[in-house]
Amino acid sequence: MTTTYLDHAATTPVRPDAFDAMVPWLRERYGNPSGSHALARAARKAIDEARDVVAECLGRMPREIVFTSGGTEADNLAVTGVVGQRRGAVVCSAVEHHAVLHAVEALGGRTVGVDPGGRLDLDELVEALDDEVCLVSVMLANNEVGTIQPVGEVVRLAREHAPGAVVHSDVVQAISWLDVADLAAEVDLLALSAHKFGGPQGVGALAVREGITLTPLLRGGGQERERRSGTQNVAGIVGMAAALRATVRERALTVARVTRLRDRLADGLTSTVAGCTESGDRSNKVAGSCSLLLADIETEALLVLMDQAGVCATAGSSCASGAMEPSHVLRAMGVSPELALGSLRLSLGWTTSEADVDRALEVIPALVGRLRDRSPLAVRP
Ligand code: PLP
Repeated sequence: MTTTYLDHAATTPVRPDAFDAMVPWLRERYGNPSGSHALARAARKAIDEARDVVAECLGRMPREIVFTSGGTEADNLAVTGVVGQRRGAVVCSAVEHHAVLHAVEALGGRTVGVDPGGRLDLDELVEALDDEVCLVSVMLANNEVGTIQPVGEVVRLAREHAPGAVVHSDVVQAISWLDVADLAAEVDLLALSAHKFGGPQGVGALAVREGITLTPLLRGGGQERERRSGTQNVAGIVGMAAALRATVRERALTVARVTRLRDRLADGLTSTVAGCTESGDRSNKVAGSCSLLLADIETEALLVLMDQAGVCATAGSSCASGAMEPSHVLRAMGVSPELALGSLRLSLGWTTSEADVDRALEVIPALVGRLRDRSPLAVRP
């Protein structure tokens, strides 16, 4: 059975460029980058070169890039690192990934709501901003519905109403689809995760504007200019840089191709499956996102059948899958808890093909029909 992979927002297949770049660092080039002999120096040079690539792709300076173990650590470093230095109130959007949301909640922070399309309520943001605020965190693209947030506007409002605040943006889900260089010139902190754009799992980065000091999460050998101790994941960092370079190089073509595929998938499912609607506003989403709501369906049951048919997808965010809690993102958008349990996230990426969309359009309507035949409350076409 072939696998139809529609879960790119959870993780992406590793790009050949990234894989090839990593192999030597897992085989014969195994030096510790903090050492002084030839193997160690080679590893350090590889990290420095990767840092140059990541910085260039983000439009930041190499010394502003801190390598981390992934997006979760980058987000946590941003939130707790700023508060550790500045002590003040923290504000984030209600639809942040848990890596930001739980860190903000642990600090007693405030969340700002979104409209039914998932877009941040800027009036409510202004109400939440004042001189006491030390950090504002708003993601660029949402991991569940793909909504793009007006982060440029968030920066402008934060500078005006909370002049002491550092602005952080989680661009983990955005970087495959959007050029973040203009935004990177304005925000203070930017979090990335390699496995969302064809790099390996377990590596990411936080771009930290020069002059901003963060209290580190990890203390030890003082790597990453004292901002993140611990021996760097050399192969992972090299793979991330190669994947990012390929992503940026191919981005315009990928976006055009995947937008067509996503539109065909979303139009095909909403027109053939009764009670199937899209969550969020498609004109304000990243290209890979196809997020659906299925009335009278519990997505967990559908996902089991899809899995048996070789189609991989997720209900809401992958971190929440397995739990029957309705997604906090959909709840913030005003979706009822019952309908939110019928949310299906199909996410496309650099490997998605016409055949994947054909297969999803063949399998999903049939399986929804099968589940509804068993349910007395089902919506009939
Ligand atoms: N931020 C967003 C928007 C994400 O989608 C994810 C992963 O799902 C993360 C952060 C966490 O990244 P990682 O899996 O690298 O810890």
